[in-house]
Amino acid sequence: MGKNETPTKSNSERPVSIKIDERDNVAIAIHSEGLQAGCRLDDGTRAIDHVPQGHKVALADLAEGDPIIRYGEVIGYAAEAIARGRWIDEARVHLPPAMPLEEMVRGDRPVPDLQPLDGFTFEGFLNADGTVGTKNILGIATSVQCVAAVADYAVRRIKQELLPRYPHVDDVVSLTHAYGCGVAIDAPEAIIPIRTLQNLAANPNLGGEVLVLGLGCEKLKPQRLLPLSNPAETTIIELQDEHLHGFDAMVSAILEAAEKKLIRLNQRRRQLCPASDLRVGLQCGGSDAFSGITANPAVGFAADLMVRAGATVVFSEVTEVRDAVHLLIPRTGNEAVAKALTREMAWYDRYLKIGGVDRSANTTPGNKAGGLANIVEKALGSIVKSGTSPLVDVLGPGERLRTNGLVFAATPASDFVCGTLQLAAGITLQVFTTGRGTPYGLAMAPVIKVSTRSSLKRRWHDLIDLDASPIATGDGSIADVGWELFQLILDIASGRKTTAADRLGLHNDLILFNPAPIT
Ligand code: CA
Repeated sequence: MGKNETPTKSNSERPVSIKIDERDNVAIAIHSEGLQAGCRLDDGTRAIDHVPQGHKVALADLAEGDPIIRYGEVIGYAAEAIARGRWIDEARVHLPPAMPLEEMVRGDRPVPDLQPLDGFTFEGFLNADGTVGTKNILGIATSVQCVAAVADYAVRRIKQELLPRYPHVDDVVSLTHAYGCGVAIDAPEAIIPIRTLQNLAANPNLGGEVLVLGLGCEKLKPQRLLPLSNPAETTIIELQDEHLHGFDAMVSAILEAAEKKLIRLNQRRRQLCPASDLRVGLQCGGSDAFSGITANPAVGFAADLMVRAGATVVFSEVTEVRDAVHLLIPRTGNEAVAKALTREMAWYDRYLKIGGVDRSANTTPGNKAGGLANIVEKALGSIVKSGTSPLVDVLGPGERLRTNGLVFAATPASDFVCGTLQLAAGITLQVFTTGRGTPYGLAMAPVIKVSTRSSLKRRWHDLIDLDASPIATGDGSIADVGWELFQLILDIASGRKTTAADRLGLHNDLILFNPAPIT
């Protein structure tokens, strides 16, 4: 439990509800069967309704329009009078207006005194540019969707015919996508998908040995995908090359080029690296009301450990930060970072407005069934992942990491789009929290999936890597699960352990964020 969390015990001495902050006028039902009507909480509140697991019970009589407070923050206003002990379902909560960005001030909050954490290491693949991969992957980048099927065909052949001879290479991955042609390539926002593709090819897990496959007549020239750090090591094959007569010749050319890369990649070995060489992305998907109680606080604790060890930690998902950004602005390292953060929020406000929606479009039916009334409640639980460290940099979508420490990389919250953009930023491992459950995984980096409640871990025993539910039941602290996650990150980054998604080969597509027009 965190210092502000008060569990209420039933007769069996197990917590039945959790109040996160002293100022809260709601608590969350913990047990899988929820709160039974008539049961009494420790503060004397008697449940009037059955309150499903993860949902909120009113701890005070609320008049219509009264603020509903969770995490010590207003998550909405009572849509009607709500008696103490009633279930506060989403229909009883009005969404508050988004806080105006221009009114947020950085203030002069002292930076928390986080002691350096020395002595932690992992075994990674050191690259020529100084970055360190957690995997040794041959990447086949593509400049246009036209060549995607050929790339996938070639990858199957490479895996069958070549890869068994190069046991120190972990995988062969095609970086296919829907971009490259039929797009307004000179539109101002086209910079986002283009730099995403450039930076994906430069991800540390690809070892700087990227092969680029193009067609020949596309708008996005394959030359633009050469990793800037190591252009000499990149090979380009264009299918319209006049020397290639027929499909077999194309595939042979790809296999021949791939084998040259495999020979070089196969000479690499893991070596001892300080934990400061880690670049870990954080994400959530299929969130529920437990996300902000169990999994995300544990991830936040591990994030602080990583930052203290000098590593880079990346969090994202603009629509899940927007309604909690007033809590992040005071944590920015300087005025420029604060400005960059509000700039990314404002950009996204405009982007949603052009599409005729607002931030309320984020929450899913599953979020609501899991007890999250709206995006404000979801956001307050989501930013807990970022821990307490100062925010030292803000990246636009698809930009590459340029500093160690806690970094916000602006991305949509969509799992696959966020995953793709974090890979472009240069993460080499991702931690993913889920309450509802998703089999999500990435081919280019291991994804550690952390469940928010035990029922998910039991049902998906072979898909979840770590269960954070002991935090809710009182069987483990945030620190316990946070340290366990930190150790698991080091083990997986070192190849000593494997994630469920990698063991099962569950890898989602790369999905680019393209806010520019398609022609
Ligand atoms: Ca997400």
